[in-house]
Amino acid sequence: MRIIDAHVHVGDNYQPMAPFEDTGRVDRLLQEMDECEVEKAVMLPVVADFSPDNNAECARWARQHPDRLVNVADVALHQANADEDIARAREVYEAVAVSYYPSGGDISWMLDPEREPVWEALKTFDLLCNLHVTPPNYSTLLELARRHTDLRFVCNHLALPGRHFEPSDATYGGLINARGLPNVYIKASAFYAAAANPWDLRCPRALGYFAALLRDLGSSRLLWGTDWPPTSRHLTYRQALEIIRTGAELEDDALELVLGANAARVFGI
Ligand SMILES: [Zn+2]
Repeated sequence: MRIIDAHVHVGDNYQPMAPFEDTGRVDRLLQEMDECEVEKAVMLPVVADFSPDNNAECARWARQHPDRLVNVADVALHQANADEDIARAREVYEAVAVSYYPSGGDISWMLDPEREPVWEALKTFDLLCNLHVTPPNYSTLLELARRHTDLRFVCNHLALPGRHFEPSDATYGGLINARGLPNVYIKASAFYAAAANPWDLRCPRALGYFAALLRDLGSSRLLWGTDWPPTSRHLTYRQALEIIRTGAELEDDALELVLGANAARVFGI
């Protein structure tokens, strides 16, 4: 069974882990993956004041470990020259996807006609769009997926339910409408963020969100990931894998899809 971690951050100086900023070193990640027999990891760069070159760094590590690491490029999609950065993501960084962490709350501007070059560039360079989408923005995500059926959209961390709704919500905060949009995928990652107690790998609340997504969208839409190194504040790397492998009680075929086959197909790796 292929096991692919669809969401990690890698860097020698990852400030959110202070005072242990080097927790996210590439050698540590590869060691964790070896121990858990994780074949590949998808690196989500974070371009910030503490890591201005993280796109280039992740591209370099992907070149050094082509059989283990795959890189995405962090692109500020709200900026006027975003389409040029998207071209660079493919041509310079050889990324398989573009990732965007919105700085503001509302992302409905993504639907504006003047943003069209962003979506055209993603299509031209065959790049998947990885979005950090919270429940208030689900409707924008769904409209984007409806308009751009030839683009794939992947959402981070169980689509970040936070405190917006409980796992018992029959519509998953409205995301159930992605059922008819086969180009929308959700990462089953960062369970600690959805858990009532972040240290509890069997937390019913976090597993409840996963079960709801499985019920609403099906096993072909979910991609396991850890969100390492932040997850390591709460759980070991292995525990972040066992949440799904042993905790979610999946049938073998669903497990195979969620742990690796979906990521392999969606990212083309
Ligand atoms: Zn993350």
